[in-house]
Amino acid sequence: MRYYKKSVIGFRDESDEEIGGVLSTAPVTVQEKEPFCCIAKIRFKEANIALDYYNDAFYLEPGDKVFVTGKYYGKLGFVERVTTHFRIDKTKYKKVIAKPDLRITGSFQRVNDKMISFDTNFDADRFGAIMIPPRDPDDDPEEILCGEGWRVELDCFEDSESVDPEKLHRGLDLCRQGNVLYLSLQQGRGAAYIRGSRVYKAEFDFDGETVSNLFCSCPFNDDCLCKHETAVLITLRMLLDQPELEDRTDFVAFDTDFFWNYVSCESKAVALQ
Ligand SMILES: [Zn+2]
Repeated sequence: MRYYKKSVIGFRDESDEEIGGVLSTAPVTVQEKEPFCCIAKIRFKEANIALDYYNDAFYLEPGDKVFVTGKYYGKLGFVERVTTHFRIDKTKYKKVIAKPDLRITGSFQRVNDKMISFDTNFDADRFGAIMIPPRDPDDDPEEILCGEGWRVELDCFEDSESVDPEKLHRGLDLCRQGNVLYLSLQQGRGAAYIRGSRVYKAEFDFDGETVSNLFCSCPFNDDCLCKHETAVLITLRMLLDQPELEDRTDFVAFDTDFFWNYVSCESKAVALQ
């Protein structure tokens, strides 16, 4: 696929060919290398500390970003050094539990306070994998049970008796502060990640008018939508009102600040067109 549109930014996979300055993207094909046993020194920037972790689940090299068990569970760490020369007491070591795929490809354009793509393969699961680590294998397994999801008309959801005015205002604050980090709509299925005290995921169905089966992963259980759900509805309606999204049913939207922070840390192949 080729892009000629102005004010579009593109990210190409390293395997793509760039032809005469025009960006060409292809689906990312991940050829993951074989995992091997090693001790990895992993730095956590916020705490400015580097610790050794045991790994036997991933192919690791310096520069990789990983999630671990233990005190720094939930923080994305940066692999500084890897060694296969070791003799350790395994019970004394915490482990590497995930190596999320951070590559971003596709073309993005700014729409309001979001960066929108119609061709990226950065779907909700991939976004979730960088925001929310897998469960610590040493913890008890989760058992998720869902009741009934919320159902509202998007155009006038504020009028619904399920929408509490205070939660609506707090949802609006989340939107203003750029906390709806990601929202995607793919074949009538929507997903969003919202930053609060931690990052929560909301999921829903959308048929062009009605949002149904709306759930949020936060612990709020009252007889009204939570602030994250109202933030998602506000964001979805704002986006669908924009001319760039007219007649579009599938898209991915990133919060602009989050997007540029992410790109500045992660991407090596960027083209402005
Ligand atoms: Zn919530």
